[in-house]
Amino acid sequence: MLTGERTGTDGTGAGGAGRVLQLIREGQAVTRADLARRTGLARSTVAQRVDALIAHQLVYEAGGRASTGGRPPTVLAFNERAGVVLAADLGATHSRLAVADLAGEPLVEQAYDLDIAAGPAAVLEWIQARYESLLADAGRGPADVLGIGVGIPAPVASGRGEPVAPPIMPGWDGFSIPRWFAAHYDAPVLVDNDVNIMALGEHWTHWRDVEHLLYVKVGTGIGCGIVADRHIHRGAQGAAGDIGHIRIAGHDDVVCRCGNVGCLEAVAGGRALAHRLTQAGLEAKTSRDVVGLVRAGEPLAIQIVRDAGRHLGEVLAGAVNFFNPGAVVVGGDIGDAHQQLLAGVREVAIRRSLPMATRDLRMVPSQLGDRAGVVGAAIMVIEHVLDPDAIDRVVRTPVPLT
Ligand SMILES: [Zn+2]
Repeated sequence: MLTGERTGTDGTGAGGAGRVLQLIREGQAVTRADLARRTGLARSTVAQRVDALIAHQLVYEAGGRASTGGRPPTVLAFNERAGVVLAADLGATHSRLAVADLAGEPLVEQAYDLDIAAGPAAVLEWIQARYESLLADAGRGPADVLGIGVGIPAPVASGRGEPVAPPIMPGWDGFSIPRWFAAHYDAPVLVDNDVNIMALGEHWTHWRDVEHLLYVKVGTGIGCGIVADRHIHRGAQGAAGDIGHIRIAGHDDVVCRCGNVGCLEAVAGGRALAHRLTQAGLEAKTSRDVVGLVRAGEPLAIQIVRDAGRHLGEVLAGAVNFFNPGAVVVGGDIGDAHQQLLAGVREVAIRRSLPMATRDLRMVPSQLGDRAGVVGAAIMVIEHVLDPDAIDRVVRTPVPLT
């Protein structure tokens, strides 16, 4: 039976090679006959689309499969090694870089200490040198790079790849990261806020069947990535999910770096927790130090992380009532102390949310941990490169002679 999808007469859109590749890639149709049924295209048209995808090495024939009689149909498979993407998750002082295949699987991946406050020229030169050696380690070169995905700890101008008034990235305001990479690679460069790519990485790898998800990063600061209808929701100006500056009751004596008082981040962020431990005579400079003290069983550290979870739970109760997510995933450095933190979150968020919003709600620690960002950066750019419209354009260009 035909499923009757709209078909483009010019080889694009629902009848184009891009849509055919998508069906093969998602495993929804893996033979020419399946593809004809799913798209409503003539067998001869499907054959043309598949031939074009094979010529561009995006698809290969993976052999036959058992059938009920006659010659087994040839199974088609997506060629995940048709190219690579470069992924970067840049933090204030730590970064993670990867070369990934087109399934988002890292071929090589490495974490580094990197001070983002050194400014765009120094930081990007350094990253480019690392990419050259990582590509060599993966047995690939610059010509194999189909796209670059970058996450940064700052708001990003949507579509331009420029940080906007970044509080912890001096010298980066309005700097075009895509333009800088254009001198080295003939490939699209996508830039997004680090919390958004973490949400994407976590959703893609562990929560594909969940349509609506919140990813909460609890590190030095606190932020939230929103997955709505399986896509990142950025808001009108890219500021959606900035829950760190929601005011919590009873903390008007705490001044936040944003100038307001009683912000969640100023009370429950890693910097605030480290400061409180230092005042009590314990050694803690960063959010990682706070987690170290929790792991060592330090009672005060356990207590303040549990309290931080309760404050976070207060804000998340509002977010859960408002957005009704299927899952809330908690990550970031402080998220590593997730047993204590989540205990506090669950205690307050469940009590303060409407039963209907929490009936099937999962509140869980991040599965990817500090890899969420680099995985999400790769997925972000792969989805862009393999978008059906982009593939339609690719297959219209002549196959390069090799
Ligand atoms: Zn604030």
